[in-house]
Amino acid sequence: MPDLTPLAKFYKKTRQERIDTLEQAEWISEAQARILRESLGLSDNTASHMIENQLSLYQIPYGIALNFVINGKPYLIPMATEEPSVIAAASNAAKLVSLSNPDGFVTESLDRQMVGQIALTNVTEPDLAMLKVQKKEEELLTIANLAHPSIVKRGGGATSIQVKWIPANESNPDSFLVVYLTVDTKEAMGANMLNTMLESLVAPLEALIGGQRLMAILSNYASQSLVRATCVVKPQILASVTYSGELVRDKIISASNFARADIYRATTHNKGIMNGIDALVLASGNDWRAIEAGAHAYASQSGSYQPLATWSKDEDGNLVGEIVLPMPVGTVGGSIAIHPMAQLSHQLLGSPQAKELAQIIGALGLAQNLAALKALVTVGIQKGHMSLQAKSLLIACGATDEEIEPLTEALLKEPHLNQETAMTLLKAYRG
Ligand code: NDP
Repeated sequence: MPDLTPLAKFYKKTRQERIDTLEQAEWISEAQARILRESLGLSDNTASHMIENQLSLYQIPYGIALNFVINGKPYLIPMATEEPSVIAAASNAAKLVSLSNPDGFVTESLDRQMVGQIALTNVTEPDLAMLKVQKKEEELLTIANLAHPSIVKRGGGATSIQVKWIPANESNPDSFLVVYLTVDTKEAMGANMLNTMLESLVAPLEALIGGQRLMAILSNYASQSLVRATCVVKPQILASVTYSGELVRDKIISASNFARADIYRATTHNKGIMNGIDALVLASGNDWRAIEAGAHAYASQSGSYQPLATWSKDEDGNLVGEIVLPMPVGTVGGSIAIHPMAQLSHQLLGSPQAKELAQIIGALGLAQNLAALKALVTVGIQKGHMSLQAKSLLIACGATDEEIEPLTEALLKEPHLNQETAMTLLKAYRG
């Protein structure tokens, strides 16, 4: 296991020193250090093959969160984010968790399968149609697997078929017969293999039950790719000069209950969770829109939008956090193999398999929530944001590297942290 000692005060080092430290501690190889040092990310040539009408590259800062221990294993967590304080908050919360329990976060994958759907309209005898589909399940699965045989060779493939009738009603004039295909996509997110399999089933289904294809597509409601992450934090770890640990614990639990009761809060609660999740999903080359869509749909599964992470107290008085959400990420496919930074992220994480990656992302989301709630119920969220906010304001006003450091301190002392104040200070500094 790499030595973690040199990572102390990592945030105080320069960018070059951080990369040197990671290389010396053998977290990264010489080649990886070079990619970071020289910012050798995506080349224009590769980018031009990834999207249409490509003009340039849009850059986002890339950093690492520290202090993460998940199921007893330490991780450096790569994060691509433009938002100040996100990485510091995650690292801070991860420290609280690992100080409470040396095994850190406890995570598990509840399943790892993807679901796609074929919607047929104009099905005249839905009950009979559903029976026919159920009876022919094995044959239909064989057709799906023959459409993408390589996933079967990898030990995956189509595993089951469900069918549902959605009748027309007052608010929806159309009725649909929906066939759901479940596929074990192994290390891939599986959008393309699922779509291929689904399309192969359209003609056989139309022949079997009548009706017409409306569409055949993967669902991003990845209800069969759930991850769970939990953590326990001892109250004394939450204590500060101003607040007892028990008070902070109880307020965090109350904040969790508030998110259960109020959609305005639940949405922001979940946005904070996605601050971490999106940053790692993006850094790992995965499709963050798919993860966002699935997460919010899952948050609404009860019919009311709910917090994805919740907090309670165990019988020893410890704070206990839990997050459950769909996490259908892959370690192959999409842009993962072709984006050098996605490859580097994967190596930084110790080359996890898809299930392990999903669990790391779940733990990161829970850490992000802990950090946000702890700040909200104690000092407030602005305190931690102010330093980076001041720097952003100065950069927006045109301050140079040499001007940013002294002017940040001055700006933080001002009663109003805004662009006007930043500009006034900058003008005064330049004489
Ligand atoms: P790919 O289409 O790249 O498919 C994954 C590939 O990885 C397969 O071709 C497979 O090769 C290969 N592979 C290698 N090793 C393994 C392994 N161990 N397990 C599984 N596959 C392996 O990617 P996905 O199908 O995962 O699709 C992801 C992309 O699809 C993302 O970029 C996403 O943005 C996009 N997308 C998303 C949609 C959505 O979310 N609704 C819709 C459409 C596209 P082989 O063929 O030899 O088996």
